[in-house]
Amino acid sequence: MFFKAKKMTYAVNTVILLLVFGLMAFFHMVDAPFLTYFSIPTAGVYVLGYYLIHKERLDAYVWMVYLWLTFYMGISTVFLGYAYGFHLYCFSMIPVMFVTEYLSIRINREGKKQKSLKARPVSLFIALFYLICTGYVAYFGPIYVRDQSYAALFWITNALIVFGFLIFYTDYMLRMVVQSEDKLRDMAQVDRLTGLYNRHYVISRLENLPEEAQGFLAMADIDNFKKINDTYGHNAGDAILRAIADKMRELCTGCELARWGGEEFLIFVVSAAGFENNAEKMFVKDGVDLMERLRKKIEAEPITFEDQRINVTITVGVEERKRGCSIDEWVQEADKKLYLGKTTGKNKVIA
Ligand code: GH3
Ligand code: MG
Ligand code: MG
Repeated sequence: MFFKAKKMTYAVNTVILLLVFGLMAFFHMVDAPFLTYFSIPTAGVYVLGYYLIHKERLDAYVWMVYLWLTFYMGISTVFLGYAYGFHLYCFSMIPVMFVTEYLSIRINREGKKQKSLKARPVSLFIALFYLICTGYVAYFGPIYVRDQSYAALFWITNALIVFGFLIFYTDYMLRMVVQSEDKLRDMAQVDRLTGLYNRHYVISRLENLPEEAQGFLAMADIDNFKKINDTYGHNAGDAILRAIADKMRELCTGCELARWGGEEFLIFVVSAAGFENNAEKMFVKDGVDLMERLRKKIEAEPITFEDQRINVTITVGVEERKRGCSIDEWVQEADKKLYLGKTTGKNKVIA
């Protein structure tokens, strides 16, 4: 996100710098010498802007450049009047100030100390500055009284630029917020190692099941996993967890898959109106068949890790959804069956 913001800021800076040169030529043309000279330090500010962007001081950049822009446009308004629409640029400052403060809050949360101006008081200051500049012109008239033949053209161009910028910028920020929300949601719902749902999320899925939902829930646990870890190492253990998750995804399409704990997985399928995943009805018999296929697949396909072929098996407990049965009880019943499988030889499916 930071990289994108940097690229975007380079582009914005270039656009503003080109505008400054254009304005300078215009001020010269309409014989407004103060404004022509004032454009020189302004261009300097934007050239310095490239340096700040390069140094990744985006906050300092934004504050300097946009405050100067407001100042420049306010002065132009006082000298030429507001028929040109220069004062409109003051509005474009407001969202930029708030987004900059937001970004600096985020950076500070990551532990990097970075001081930033507060958007609220600065915005109020801009509003005051806007009132003073336009108020001055309304009361005393512009300092340079010039031919206004270009005013309408400027008004339209400036209004289009300001609106275009506001629309583009807020839309872009909205997209960034949605993207980062999606990422956060993924992080909150998904187990990082296997990419399956995590326990917390799958519990909320189960708790939201409609009363009439029918289906099955299976608890699968890798056999002798502690020994596998001890023999081949923790990394091999992790690779096995990932490989098992892949096999589940491959075989159990339409199931909800979760990593319930260390080397335990929860698989469930329900059919109910409004529960999107499964149009067809699936009963415990289908569940047992499916789990039996999964068990056989895992048994038949040793997992390769750093040139070693590791035999892995799982034991599974399958429990049907019963009316009036709580989620806790449902999971406990599947667990009991899993335990039964573990105590009677492992590598089996118990229903
Ligand atoms: P059983 O057949 O009865 O299930 O025996 P087990 O050894 O599989 O079960 P136990 O509960 O004794 O051990 C589970 C092991 O799983 C212990 C723990 O170190 C390991 N484990 C848990 N989470 C992870 C993980 O994320 N990565 C790795 N590599 N190992 C893990
Ligand atoms: Mg185990
Ligand atoms: Mg276990």
